[in-house]
Amino acid sequence: MHDRIVLMLDGTRNLCYRDQRKLQGVQLADGAAVDRILDGLGPDALDVNREDFLELLSGRRGAIKSALMDQSVIAGLGNLLCDEILWRARVAPRTPTRNLSEKALRRIHAALGRVLEASVRAGCVPPRRSWLTGRRDDSEPLCPRCGSSMRSSRVAGRRTVWCPQCQT
Ligand SMILES: [Zn+2]
Repeated sequence: MHDRIVLMLDGTRNLCYRDQRKLQGVQLADGAAVDRILDGLGPDALDVNREDFLELLSGRRGAIKSALMDQSVIAGLGNLLCDEILWRARVAPRTPTRNLSEKALRRIHAALGRVLEASVRAGCVPPRRSWLTGRRDDSEPLCPRCGSSMRSSRVAGRRTVWCPQCQT
């Protein structure tokens, strides 16, 4: 089990904090401490419009996947979301952010909106077979768009799946 904290709410219900990957954990914070924590975060991904998105990412060093995963740039995008977004936008995860055209960044922003909206509605990144997320755990995952074998490797410290045919 990975339960790190269990809060007993009343006699019958518990609130469990489960953390398989040992992320940042739970902090008990007063108002000032909450402000300090939030100060280190970029804007919420759901609130970032296209102009802000272009500004936040333009000229950044490092791979686009690392930039999207960086919570100080944009808050709220995890590993599955980033892979799904980049697959939809047809951008390879290791592409240096500063090499991306404005057109490519616009495609990423549009994909981000659609993927987030569907994921918020579903309560998770939906593992539909027409999505990369629905294939990434197959033993030999095939791209749902072009049928090619997808590749898997570590990018930004996390297992990353992409289609070398569609994502250039
Ligand atoms: Zn493909």
